[in-house]
Amino acid sequence: AHYVYRFGGGVSDGGKGDKNLLGGKGANLAEMAAIGLPVPPGFTISTEMCTRYYEEGESFPDSLRDEVANGLAHIEGITGKTFGDAADPLLVSVRSGARVSMPGMMDTVLNLGLNDATVEGLAASAGDPRFAWDSYRRFIQMYSDVVLGLDHGRFEEALEIAKEDRGVHLDTELEAEDWRRLTGRYKELVEEELGRPFPQDVHEQLWGAIGAVFGSWQSERAKVYRRLNAIPGDWGTAVNVQAMVFGNMGETSATGVAFTRDPSTGERAYYGEYLINAQGEDVVAGIRTPQYLTRAAREAAKAKAVSMEESMPEVFAELARVFDLLEAHYRDMQDIEFTVERGRLFMLQTRSGKRTARAALRIAVDMAGEGLISEEEAILRVDPAALDQLLHPTLDPAAERKVIAKGLPASPGAASGAAVFDADTAEKRAGLGEKVILVRIETSPEDIHGMHAAEGILTARGGMTSHAAVVARGMGRPCVSGAGSVSIDYARRLMRVGGQEVREGETITIDGASGEVMLGEVATVQPELVGDFGTLMAWADKVRRLAVRTNAETPADCRTAREFGAEGIGLCRTEHMFFEAGRIANVRRMILAEDEAGRRAALANLLPEQRGDFEEIFRIMAGLPVTIRLLDPPLHEFLPHNESELAELAAASGTSAEAIKRRVGELHEFNPMLGHRGCRLGITYPEIYEMQARAIFEAAARVATETGEAPIPEVMVPLVGTRAELGIIRKLIERTAEAVFAETGRTLDYRVGTMIELPRAALLADQIAEEAHFFSFGTNDLTQTTLGVSRDDAARFLGIYVEKGIFERDPFVSIDEDGVGQLISIAAERGRAVKQDLKLGICGEHGGDPTSIAFCEKTGLDYVSASPYRVPIARLAAAQAAL
Ligand code: ADP
Ligand code: MG
Ligand code: MG
Repeated sequence: AHYVYRFGGGVSDGGKGDKNLLGGKGANLAEMAAIGLPVPPGFTISTEMCTRYYEEGESFPDSLRDEVANGLAHIEGITGKTFGDAADPLLVSVRSGARVSMPGMMDTVLNLGLNDATVEGLAASAGDPRFAWDSYRRFIQMYSDVVLGLDHGRFEEALEIAKEDRGVHLDTELEAEDWRRLTGRYKELVEEELGRPFPQDVHEQLWGAIGAVFGSWQSERAKVYRRLNAIPGDWGTAVNVQAMVFGNMGETSATGVAFTRDPSTGERAYYGEYLINAQGEDVVAGIRTPQYLTRAAREAAKAKAVSMEESMPEVFAELARVFDLLEAHYRDMQDIEFTVERGRLFMLQTRSGKRTARAALRIAVDMAGEGLISEEEAILRVDPAALDQLLHPTLDPAAERKVIAKGLPASPGAASGAAVFDADTAEKRAGLGEKVILVRIETSPEDIHGMHAAEGILTARGGMTSHAAVVARGMGRPCVSGAGSVSIDYARRLMRVGGQEVREGETITIDGASGEVMLGEVATVQPELVGDFGTLMAWADKVRRLAVRTNAETPADCRTAREFGAEGIGLCRTEHMFFEAGRIANVRRMILAEDEAGRRAALANLLPEQRGDFEEIFRIMAGLPVTIRLLDPPLHEFLPHNESELAELAAASGTSAEAIKRRVGELHEFNPMLGHRGCRLGITYPEIYEMQARAIFEAAARVATETGEAPIPEVMVPLVGTRAELGIIRKLIERTAEAVFAETGRTLDYRVGTMIELPRAALLADQIAEEAHFFSFGTNDLTQTTLGVSRDDAARFLGIYVEKGIFERDPFVSIDEDGVGQLISIAAERGRAVKQDLKLGICGEHGGDPTSIAFCEKTGLDYVSASPYRVPIARLAAAQAAL
């Protein structure tokens, strides 16, 4: 096995396809050299060496010495300089480089190979002692910091003192003699700290740096970064050793970083910064303010300092040529590092540039237009999850903000409004046209109408999967959850934070993307859904096979979803309508009724309301399928939970508070998730489902008459575990349909289906399919029932499970393919074996998750259903899955 791969001088032992072996930096250095770009020669020690280094107790095999010696000889041959030569020394940089760029790894060491003898040679050969001593002091400081692990604070202090002694402010004002003196001081510092002198042997320097790169792979910083970014520990890093070129050789030298297009807007314009007479990290370190690359950028920023285009027109033209060449070669926007040494350009790095979602869209669409990539490639270039950033209003970056608290970024988007502390007030004030932010300690299903009325939601407690977070994401409302420093006083209608009081009606702003809470109104910018977005979505729609529906029940959500391209409703949760203010009383009366007659009386009041809701949904979704789920949650969720609500209900319904309390007690369940809910309600209280079915068919009939276009309702029965359950309820639905058809004199097409959310239903899908036109996988519950994990209680251990690798991902975010996914595959197969045209879909949060959507494509489902704001994400993810 060999471990050293050369590049430069017409030789490239590797290329851009070798990232796993050479790391991203090494692979692209070799590639750039291969296509004839000016890259200082060097060699890469492969990631395999890193693995072996750790296997062999952090030591190198002897053979590596020879290989590195050969690598050095390769550089020496091209540069004509010799490493350690006192007359004309070769200097190198030692750079780490993993497969993916990884903060936490060792920083680069520049100017390696300098010592008390070679510094004189460098001064003489360059004819510039100031440059030589500047380089030496940089080297000692970097090497001491990065390789020897000394605190750089004392070095900076010494530099400050040196400047003070000379009465100057800028590094550039120091002269050769000053740098020489400072170098002496640096060496003393090293000896004081380390108890031995700074290494003068250049080979010792080199091996120290190589060891430090490999050593940094297992540093705490690197481990933490890997854990957070799911980077496997066995990838290892490569080490790049490369001949130095010098941007600090005076006014004709410079160093810079650039993007081939604007990484924040995607505009096709060179974008970057450079510094004259500087080295490497100076540009990012902020010691001096970097200057603009192009004249246009300088003029736009009204900056005075001259741009590279103006100060070095010839080198800039060469650089621009390289930019275009690299883009054409890599067929993507590049992030580039370069150095100019006495008017000569050198390329030091290139990689695909990071970009905002907006830029990603624009670049993908532009590049397809330029013929650089195909439409399919453009589709694959945009991360669906990143679209989320684009669909919501965001804070105007130029606006001033006064942050008073920080919570979790639970649901993206920014919103301003009057702080209100209960759902009813939110609904009331919003009804009067006021923008409100609902602020709660935490939210529950009873707050839904208020959450809906609000522009945004802020909670003091709860995590990323709390009720508030999940519901807000579903509704597309911005949400900041778990802002622990906010204390809320419901009685006095105010919140306190950091010694400040915010009363009901005072304006606050929340940013659900950052978790920040601000005082007053902060300007927002609206998303742009046309242009590039529309173009890419149209391309995606051409290639995807999966249909995309939405989970929605309010007219507003249905409209939003249609605008976002939903092709129907996959899940309309009827209970959300029950929670609406003004209706809950009838719902409660129904629950409290002593007998069927009482229940029927209360249900009769609910019927016109439900029918009205369905009519509106059918109108908005004209021509598209609408799946309506019959009542699912246990009845006690609708009952009052506190004394004041109890008293209110008693007064309104003419019963005693005692009687209500008794009923609440009767309905209590130890484990409601597995209790009296779903179709079990329909079996025990058929009149509830009967009312809902009637509302659906009456609404459909009315809309059909009114518009001439008959909707196709899909009635969905929740929590079915046996064929018999579905059989009973299907008959009830059919009976009701026939009755309505007879009354209205109008027969409509409709379907009856079920959710598959119990493992038993999945396993016995062949039997259940006999009774169903369609299956919709309710993967929220199916995950709970398959894993035996309650989503609401999982927060205490799920994080640790993911961290320990027990779960690869949060199974409530991305489908557990091995377990839950297997049940879905089984159900799909067995169901279709019985009924070939059985329609299969997925609802639940997974329907909007790109990884899960890829699984749905693989499994051959017909559609996914996602919350309105995730519809575009699902469309793009479905297209990517199909490619
Ligand atoms: P990072 O991975 O942090 O970007 P690099 O290894 O790219 O670290 O090094 C940072 C900077 O150091 C480069 O952008 C370049 O300016 C400078 N640098 C690295 N190697 C050389 C070299 N051989 N000659 C001149 N400058 C170099
Ligand atoms: Mg770099
Ligand atoms: Mg369910």
